[in-house]
Formats: sequence, C-alpha cells, structure tokens
Amino acid sequence: MASSTASKKRNSAKKERRPKRKICNFCADKITEINYKDVTRLRKYISERGKILPRRISGSCAKHQRLLTVAVKRARVIAFLPFVSE
Ligand SMILES: [Zn+2]
Repeated sequence: MASSTASKKRNSAKKERRPKRKICNFCADKITEINYKDVTRLRKYISERGKILPRRISGSCAKHQRLLTVAVKRARVIAFLPFVSE
C-alpha cells in the first residue's frame, strides 16, 4: 500500500488541479484594441523587471495577450516602457 499513500500525498500537494478561470480584463472591459500609449494599463501586464507577464499570470485571453505583447513592444521602442528595469 505504499503506492496509495504516495499518490495521496501527491494529490494533496496538487490540490486537485482546478483551473482557475481568470477573466480577461480586456474582455471584461470590452476592449477590442490595446493602445500602446495606454501605459497605465500596460504597466499592469509587465513585471517589475519590465518583462511581459505570461498569460497564466495575467489571466488575459489569447487574443488580448497577443495584442498586449505587440502594444508593450511598441511602447518599449518609443520608450514608454522599459526593456529592463530594476
Ligand atoms: Zn480577452
């Protein structure tokens, strides 16, 4: 019965693996376009070091995440956002 205890342990650690359905902020606000000039909004989707947050953390959907990355990259080029910051 060693295997059963092992699996039990693993299950408790994993916590049943329920995917948290985060709602996409952009979908919630019904935003169809993400403006690269909207730095205040973009700021929420980059880490302290200036990296773009992955979808699983930001919770945005595929469509908006794609728009977001483009917006962030544009904002970086025109120095609205940093490439790296510490
Ligand atoms: Zn969305």
